[in-house]
Amino acid sequence: MNRILLALAFLLVSISAAFADEIPSALPAPAVVSPAPKAPAPKLVEPHLHIARSNIAGHARVALTFDACMGQADERILSTLVRERIPATIFVTARWLKRNPAAVAMFLQNPDLFELENHGQNHIPAVDTPTLIYGIASAGSPQAVRQEVEGGAAAMLAAGIPAPHWFRGSTAKYDLSAIGEIRAMGYRIAGYSVNGDGGSLLGAVITEKRIASAKDGDVVISHVNQPTHAAGEGVAKALVDLKAKGTEFVRLEDVEDTGDDKTTE
Ligand SMILES: [Zn+2]
Repeated sequence: MNRILLALAFLLVSISAAFADEIPSALPAPAVVSPAPKAPAPKLVEPHLHIARSNIAGHARVALTFDACMGQADERILSTLVRERIPATIFVTARWLKRNPAAVAMFLQNPDLFELENHGQNHIPAVDTPTLIYGIASAGSPQAVRQEVEGGAAAMLAAGIPAPHWFRGSTAKYDLSAIGEIRAMGYRIAGYSVNGDGGSLLGAVITEKRIASAKDGDVVISHVNQPTHAAGEGVAKALVDLKAKGTEFVRLEDVEDTGDDKTTE
């Protein structure tokens, strides 16, 4: 019993610590502070993305996508990708690029493995009306959504990375008008079909199990910016598991894809 309570307490502390990492400043204000009438919350979507299947038994085709939101580089995952020669698509923010020049250099030295795409400038959700998502303030206007997307791309070009073609916003949630705006800027929007690491907050065992169970045509999302979280250990193990199963790893630029909520059509 005590062990269960201890484990629960540890989990709660881990989760709050994890959110503290992600969200340094933007905790939601208590509702009582604001007597002003509230605009209705925007309808948000969290789009799915699938890739064309291989349809070859024993060789499921899977696209691994990783978000580099802010913070540091997870060498457990990156070194496994390089050692096992596993291709992947990495979504980077301007903030993360600035802090992790060694990881960026490693990406650029392995262009056969890494496709780099746009995760925004400041890791602000691409929602064009004001709201909070997991406690993070949305961009809040079409202009701010545009700035988040353009700022991310500009930082990539400045770091010597080829121009991005895919965008994935912070929290992977959008409103439909922001999706339309980002599509009009020439981007495809990257949803996913397997949530590998629960925002990097899951344990190693469950993370490994989720990712290793990816099926033909799946797009997996997980994170490469939380080297102190247990989830990354599970991600690294799952990469080896998938490779042993004969998985065909592809990057988003290598295959046909289908996204819902008008994210790719
Ligand atoms: Zn992110």
